[in-house]
Amino acid sequence: APEREVLTWDLYGQGSRELAQAVADSGYVPDVVLGIARGGLIPAGSLAYALDCKNLFTISVEFYTGVDSRLDVPVMLPPFLDAHDLDESSVLVVDDVADTGRTLELVAQFCAGHAREMRTAVLYEKPHSVISCDYAWRRTDRWINFPWSTEPPVTGRSGVLDA
Ligand code: 5GP
Repeated sequence: APEREVLTWDLYGQGSRELAQAVADSGYVPDVVLGIARGGLIPAGSLAYALDCKNLFTISVEFYTGVDSRLDVPVMLPPFLDAHDLDESSVLVVDDVADTGRTLELVAQFCAGHAREMRTAVLYEKPHSVISCDYAWRRTDRWINFPWSTEPPVTGRSGVLDA
């Protein structure tokens, strides 16, 4: 099996802190942290706390696989953020990983013309990403196991409360 990049909760705690430190050290002070659901929500929450930013927004983007197409197209899902809520703001867009970078590209287009300034922060950036992120904790070309999505969902199992 191909080797994977494994992010444990412990290492995540360190990595998210170092990512926030890189943003702070650069002098960028975001008015808004915008997390991309779902993978970017946990890093976005961590960065919002570490950067002492109370304006934490979310945007939902997922990849739809067309039935008759091999093309993967990222699409926004409701509830929709009003782009005017970003007017005049400096925005830090946060996701777990920039892989193809298409998700971040879509969100960057969404913010353009509204946010005064927009920068991107990810835990991981892959070499073929179409977006070059402003802040990336690590770079890899491997598949990443994130701590929040490594275990299968608990739904459908008999609950511990019933045991
Ligand atoms: P994109 O290709 O648009 O940059 O990434 C879209 C989304 O695919 C990411 O936000 C992430 O949720 C998921 N993804 C991409 N690469 C990986 C990976 O290596 N591991 C995991 N767990 N998810 C990934």
